[in-house]
Amino acid sequence: MVKIIVKNISKVFKKGKVIALDNVNITIENGERFGILGPSGAGKTTFMRIIAGLDVPSTGELYFDDKLVASNGKLLVPPEDRKIGMVFQTWALYPNLTAFENIAFPLTNMKMSKEEIRKRVEEVAKILDIHHVLNHLPRELSGGQQQRVALARALVKDPSLLLLDEPFSNLDARMRDSARALVKEVQSRLGVTLLIVSHDPADIFAIADRVGVLVKGKLVQVGKPEEVYDNPVSIQVASLIGEINELEGKVTNEGVVIGSFRFPVSISNDKVLIGIRPEDVKLSKDVIRDDAWTLVGKGRVKVIGYQGGLFRITITPLNSDDEIFTYSDHPIHSGEEVLVYVKKDKIKVFEKIKILFKK
Ligand code: ATP
Repeated sequence: MVKIIVKNISKVFKKGKVIALDNVNITIENGERFGILGPSGAGKTTFMRIIAGLDVPSTGELYFDDKLVASNGKLLVPPEDRKIGMVFQTWALYPNLTAFENIAFPLTNMKMSKEEIRKRVEEVAKILDIHHVLNHLPRELSGGQQQRVALARALVKDPSLLLLDEPFSNLDARMRDSARALVKEVQSRLGVTLLIVSHDPADIFAIADRVGVLVKGKLVQVGKPEEVYDNPVSIQVASLIGEINELEGKVTNEGVVIGSFRFPVSISNDKVLIGIRPEDVKLSKDVIRDDAWTLVGKGRVKVIGYQGGLFRITITPLNSDDEIFTYSDHPIHSGEEVLVYVKKDKIKVFEKIKILFKK
């Protein structure tokens, strides 16, 4: 286990024309599972490469525990001395090597006896439940076993830090679920510090205790995934971490108005963005008597689609082209008028990039 301290780290490319990381500060605790969430080009890979020692920060310092490992353009501890295991997008194995040889691969460059290598490979193979297939070639392994071999290879050097770079993006949906569960289970068993970067909030929710949201090289919010989901600092963060309706409204004495919808929030700006997650929207033909839900107005069903047991329903306020969507377990015909309710304490109000306040 290791504690990672990132202090004022920036990384520029092309003589400063590209700012890939912009003054990033974060401490990742011993044994923590930390996720970096960000859109394409946000700087996720750059961050990972700096932690791994494959790249150096242009300015700022990186510590592993109390040890300074990189500082202001200088590499002080090279990757091979950082006790890191890595899993990349592909989980790729060498096709001509057996599972044993694949797992042993990172050890072959070290001056280690054959006996010691065997002992280490068998140990990690037992943890991952693949000791009975160690002499199989990758093509003779199931997809799940292949993942376990790739993970074993990342763990065989007994790393203090496990780095996962978009590790699930190339797997199909079923494999993705099992790989996420596997990573989480193995991490908690070994207690290794874990850093995952991904653009997919589902990876973060499945694995991370804390998430840092990276946008244009800046760490704009850090918190528990559910905190960031509930209280995002901007509409951009809100939409990176989950689905959200985004409506631009006019501020009046009665609240924020969008066509026939009225959101009961009080704000001093002229125009604001209202954010509301689909699960915080409910459609009804009849009046709902429940204090948690507030009626925003009448809407008309525009589109309805079926998606994994639920109907995705898009509604427009009367006399407006705006849209709001939600999921429902029963269909409503398009063109029908419905009452639109939202969860009162889940209405998010944004002014360009900052939350003002919510009621
Ligand atoms: P993706 O999810 O698409 O992989 P990312 O969040 O990992 O994106 P990075 O690959 O870290 O983003 O890139 C951050 C920014 O830095 C981008 O604008 C990218 O074009 C730029 N960049 C990264 N590496 C280099 C490099 N070696 N030379 C010049 N620019 C670079």
